[in-house]
Amino acid sequence: MKGQEIARLTNIWSTYQQDEQQLSRVIIESTRPLTFQLRRVNQVVAFTIYNAIPNMYCDTLAIYDGLINEITVQPEEGNRVTIYIALNHNAPCTVTRLNGLPARTFLCFSRAHLDALFAGRRIVIDPGHGGRDPGGRGPVDLLEKNVVLTMAKKLKAELAKVKAQVWLTREGDQYLTPSERLKLAKEMRAHVFISLHTNYSKDSRIGGLVVNYNPAHHAGLRLARLTCEELVRKIKRNVLEIKAAKELSGLGPIPGFKIKPVTISNWVEEGLLRNPTFYEKIAIGVLNGLQKIFLSSPE
Ligand SMILES: [Zn+2]
Repeated sequence: MKGQEIARLTNIWSTYQQDEQQLSRVIIESTRPLTFQLRRVNQVVAFTIYNAIPNMYCDTLAIYDGLINEITVQPEEGNRVTIYIALNHNAPCTVTRLNGLPARTFLCFSRAHLDALFAGRRIVIDPGHGGRDPGGRGPVDLLEKNVVLTMAKKLKAELAKVKAQVWLTREGDQYLTPSERLKLAKEMRAHVFISLHTNYSKDSRIGGLVVNYNPAHHAGLRLARLTCEELVRKIKRNVLEIKAAKELSGLGPIPGFKIKPVTISNWVEEGLLRNPTFYEKIAIGVLNGLQKIFLSSPE
């Protein structure tokens, strides 16, 4: 190593992709190719880089993409840097490199476990309201019936990538009765029913998320807490309430949730609903919650 020029680490980020190559990637940019060693302690991958110094902000990045939970960049004595990648599953990792300026090192993790968990799962998504029933209205102009349909379509797309079977109770702006919404879940013998709404308050200062659950399911509250926890990690809103919803008990033994990720009557949260990446965060947060649910109820 003596005499060798020091590599400066200039950037680190992560992406995930779900096509034939289902991978979560961590990409490290540096001023020259890296000398490294990869170790694994349970679900944490430690990527130690020798003869390198970070030229970037070192901290923990919250990723929660369905596989990678967090990435921590840790400078060490003697020009060493270790990058800890905490996973939620012991997924295989391969390293590839692309020389150039910057040099790029890719740590690629297989997301195949998501397919294994979601394939064959039947999920019914219910965008609340519709047609003559607009639901809540934001202080500027957004309507609940429209934003929840966008949420539902995004969630369906993410769940389709992991091979779940997904149905929507409505694909357009139609009115449905409460029993029509539950009927589809029962007919399809759904593994889970997810109704999407937004919360509403007369006080526009109140913001946050609400999760309701089917009290007829034996683990309703516990599963609602898991879902809520995962969603909060992604969308970073304040939890207002986790509560049983009587109207979901018509589902019988099917786990059912009414998820209200934000309060539409709050100025800030209505603003979040104008951002397409926010819908992506909601979808991944719910997907992570479903991962927990399916892991805790194998079938
Ligand atoms: Zn609603």
